[in-house]
Amino acid sequence: MRKILSLILAIVFVATALLSCTETGIKSPKDKPLVVATNFVLYDTARTLAGELADVRMLLPPGTDAHEYELTLADTALAADADLFLYIGGESEDWVDDLFASMREEDRPLACRMMDDAVIQSEEVREGMQEAEGGIHDEDEEEYDEHVWTSFENLYGIAEQICAGLQALMPDRTDTLNERLIDYKAMIGEIEDDYRAAVDGARRRTLVFADRFPFLYLVKELGLDYYAAFSGCSSNVEASLATIHFLVTKVQDEGIPAVFIIEFSDGKCAEAVARETGCEILTLYSGHSVTPEEFASGITYPELLRRNLEALKKALG
Ligand SMILES: [Zn+2]
Repeated sequence: MRKILSLILAIVFVATALLSCTETGIKSPKDKPLVVATNFVLYDTARTLAGELADVRMLLPPGTDAHEYELTLADTALAADADLFLYIGGESEDWVDDLFASMREEDRPLACRMMDDAVIQSEEVREGMQEAEGGIHDEDEEEYDEHVWTSFENLYGIAEQICAGLQALMPDRTDTLNERLIDYKAMIGEIEDDYRAAVDGARRRTLVFADRFPFLYLVKELGLDYYAAFSGCSSNVEASLATIHFLVTKVQDEGIPAVFIIEFSDGKCAEAVARETGCEILTLYSGHSVTPEEFASGITYPELLRRNLEALKKALG
């Protein structure tokens, strides 16, 4: 893998050098630092903080399932060109280690791994849940849930980490970036308050995910209970009849009005549960990615959080 990546990088560097040569004779310097983020939440937070000060890009093309992603030649070239590289550092981003290993040390961008500073939860496998597939694991090794950003506490920390990374690139902009960080945290703080008020005023305490489950951090933080078809969200396996039956029973016994799917879901499990119970199907957006159309429209992560809040209110009654 490393050898292939090294070869790919070598070809990219030569190709890039040739292109620049034909255009300008020398590789033109960037007028702004290039910030490359692996997922949508990091991308959106970075562009909100950096604004006009940096060129912020999302590495995984919109609509890509992060758990199915494989590094491409174009993405490798973009990452190699980055001044700041933002990533979560969970299981689905194992490829980042290979990417960095393929670069000469002096060519590696400044990198911020969010799981280094986040409060981490272990993955849970509860009654009724099918275990998600996520590669080969040591039986004794604890598995950590990588969706750290779905906790508000971690989201503030992520914004701080990104701000620190930007300040390292642009020390003369430290004050501006600090002001933007304060504004961003205040905006997210208002959304968090609305989530907590919604939960406090709710009749129910249990959410049902007839799908993969990237919201462990959110439910723990809000003091909610949950049932889910799969632990974590690392694969697209089909729900078994036993899983569907388990969820149908819970929805009926507890009078739950709606079950959740996540973005890019095929919805099959939820549709089976809805057919049996008459419940509604709602979407919770994890923030891994957005559709190409949403991306083009400039949608933001706080907007996704607001959409999720409305869905939670419906489900909690
Ligand atoms: Zn996921």
